[in-house]
Amino acid sequence: MLQPLSLIRGARVIDPAAGIDAIVDVLIGPGGVTIDPSSVPDHARRVDGRGQWALPGLVDLQVHLRDPGLTHKEDQLTGSRAALSGGVTTMVVMPNTRPVLDDPALVAAQSSSADARGLARVLVAAAATRASAGQALSDYRALKAAGAVAVTDDGLPVQDDALMEQSLISCAANDLVFMQHAEDTRISQHRPMTECEVQRAAGILGQPAEAEWVMVERDVALAERTGARYHVLHLSTARSLAAVRRAKERGASVTCEVSPHHLTFTCNDVVKAGIELPSTEADLDPNKKMNPPLRSGADRRALVDGLADGTVDAVATDHAPHTAAEKGQGFARAPFGTTGLETMLGVLLRFVHDGTIDARRAVELVTSGPARVLRRQGALGTLSGRQAPPDLCLVDPERSWVVTTGALQSRSKNNCFLGLELRGRVTATWLRGRLAYQLIA
Ligand SMILES: [Zn+2]
Repeated sequence: MLQPLSLIRGARVIDPAAGIDAIVDVLIGPGGVTIDPSSVPDHARRVDGRGQWALPGLVDLQVHLRDPGLTHKEDQLTGSRAALSGGVTTMVVMPNTRPVLDDPALVAAQSSSADARGLARVLVAAAATRASAGQALSDYRALKAAGAVAVTDDGLPVQDDALMEQSLISCAANDLVFMQHAEDTRISQHRPMTECEVQRAAGILGQPAEAEWVMVERDVALAERTGARYHVLHLSTARSLAAVRRAKERGASVTCEVSPHHLTFTCNDVVKAGIELPSTEADLDPNKKMNPPLRSGADRRALVDGLADGTVDAVATDHAPHTAAEKGQGFARAPFGTTGLETMLGVLLRFVHDGTIDARRAVELVTSGPARVLRRQGALGTLSGRQAPPDLCLVDPERSWVVTTGALQSRSKNNCFLGLELRGRVTATWLRGRLAYQLIA
């Protein structure tokens, strides 16, 4: 049987890891990618790539697939559809499923099931402590052997200093990166918004930004002492970013990601459209309730500066699906989280269109950058990688679209960008060398 092949003609190929940024034809199939092929079989599907970018499949370092146990919000199939329509071909999934991913067999099943079903690739950040209860470390050696790429307790971060140090020692011994949702919950008290004028006017409780950077500063010190690799998930404050920048200058193995929503919105944007200053929680948009919460304008600007100056290693979504009923309980009671797989690239391209960063840097933030965090550079997030069969997405950087629930593939529609017009959209995605998604015009 003939191999299914696609020839993308005339696209701008941007592959930062391979040092490629050129308008050149690309032949893609299950056997691999050929840049500027000298001959093309007749049966290859011809795709007009003129005016578009051909990129390595995107890598998202933080996704909640909700599978197993919470599949009324999302499952591997709907999550994969959402990912592929956003150009994402590899997701690092968080362990807060039911049961929690603290068991080697559960970890191994995540990736093997995605592979067997032909769904977007899944890598696992396993639970740092048993049941993410913050009491006893899980078995890092066994988790690593089962394929885990990282450990984290995400929304239930390790508070105890001694246990955190033990965890980092074990990470170093097993070459795992610790991914921290940095939040001192003794300070934040799980409160629904950051402390700000809007929060006070609406009459709800606020958490100080200090809840994040206090933990980042503690962890950076522990990471340097233990020699472990440490990564800050969805970093959201200027002071946390400064701590990461200083740690990098000292040569520490410290990395960070920022989320599209923290780059775009501030706590003022939590107010529903048309309302000047809120007087009750009903004036606030539950889709803009996430953790860490949307911060101040100064924090947002610092994150954008971090994109431009190289401090930020990756943009990652924290894709967190919740049902309409859950989000409809009122702002204070609604669960934290926004979806993001489908909107990540369009939001990131806003910073290319406004001249903050160039196209190569934007692509790096969602391909080779996250691959470096995972120490998989050369294997992941590049077309010339050892990862065969290859992944690729085609993007029209000028194509405008409005984010509507109808445009989203995720089972849950709690996207904080609903109603926003984005410029830049994925038009096709190849997974394991095969065309896996195509935008219906
Ligand atoms: Zn988190």
